[in-house]
Amino acid sequence: MARGEVVLTFPASGRARPPKSLPAFPVKPRLSSLVLATYAVTEKKSKGRKYPESEHPIRRAFQRDRDRIIHSTAFRRLQYKTQVFVNHEGDHYRTRLTHTLETSQIARTLARALNLNEDLVEAISLAHDIGHGPFGHAGEWALRDLMKNYGGFEHNAQALRILEKLEARYPDFPGLNLSFETLEGLKKHPAQLPGPYHRPLRMLEAEVVDLADEIAYTSHDLDDGLRSGLLRFEDLGALPLWRASRAEAQERAGGMLAAEFLQPAVIRRLIDRLVRDVLHGTLLKIRLKKLRTFSGLQKIRMPLVRLSDNVRRDHTELKRFLRKNLYEHPHVRRRTDEGQQCIRALFNAYLKRPERCGAEVLKRAGEDGLQRSVCDYVAGMTDRYAIQEYKHLFGMQE
Ligand code: MG
Repeated sequence: MARGEVVLTFPASGRARPPKSLPAFPVKPRLSSLVLATYAVTEKKSKGRKYPESEHPIRRAFQRDRDRIIHSTAFRRLQYKTQVFVNHEGDHYRTRLTHTLETSQIARTLARALNLNEDLVEAISLAHDIGHGPFGHAGEWALRDLMKNYGGFEHNAQALRILEKLEARYPDFPGLNLSFETLEGLKKHPAQLPGPYHRPLRMLEAEVVDLADEIAYTSHDLDDGLRSGLLRFEDLGALPLWRASRAEAQERAGGMLAAEFLQPAVIRRLIDRLVRDVLHGTLLKIRLKKLRTFSGLQKIRMPLVRLSDNVRRDHTELKRFLRKNLYEHPHVRRRTDEGQQCIRALFNAYLKRPERCGAEVLKRAGEDGLQRSVCDYVAGMTDRYAIQEYKHLFGMQE
């Protein structure tokens, strides 16, 4: 149940039935139907926004963050950005947007079951890949290379740049003026901090999103890999996670699962298996560490939201399999090489003729330098727009 919704409870026995009279509006928003864990992030203890704003009468701070992210231009562009398969390869493959939505739903399931702040988890999830350029990780590597003498490029850092500076939707401040905790949750691999878990502020909500991201991409990349024919069922037999999920899917169907339902059933069981393992392992660790408070959480050095040792080993094996057989498959490589070539050509063409990027880029070049400003422009492009621009500038048909 979302924060702020009216909670109506019925007797435990029998089916839910409508109440005799509905409460009058306005109803005072309440935190949740569930009490948040004492180590969860709460709006009440939030460090707030950089530019102070008055509270909304209905929506809580992290709900507003989520809504601002959904209404941003950068979020809408995710629909034409590559996850693994380049956007024009087919309508049924995951894009950066559907990956983001799958991450969000897994993260929210985990957050709700762990009594963490679901609104914060949703906001971090929806923004977690907003800094990706066109053509997925290959595009990121191309930009990193082009920017190596000008401060580099990294998609998590770019997400913060978009949300704090580049999105222009409010006259009173740059960016979206999100809450401190939402921005903090996006600092996944800041270059100045060693290791993925050394966030300045420790929040289980951020750890939940990191793991949900991994569960989402391994399961849906496997699904898309099979759909594309680049991966085959018979290649997966050596993977313990696949074998166990397949056996469970067959067992639930009484061994009578028709071929066309097998793949979605196994993927469902795989996600469910990973999510249940995370919940079990995390609750155990919380109990073991006697975690009681948010300040207590800051003193714990080890990650708490994680898969159990055995399942993590199997999951790592699956990730290794995907890297070798899907991400490095000659077909995927060819597409991503073309994407990199497109990014390099556009970047260099705009450096020579920055007026082609428009007034906003020229203005920003005065503040941030030409390379950074062109990098922002190219990184903001969708695959579709980058290809279109490439054809326009270089007169190519394909
Ligand atoms: Mg992601």
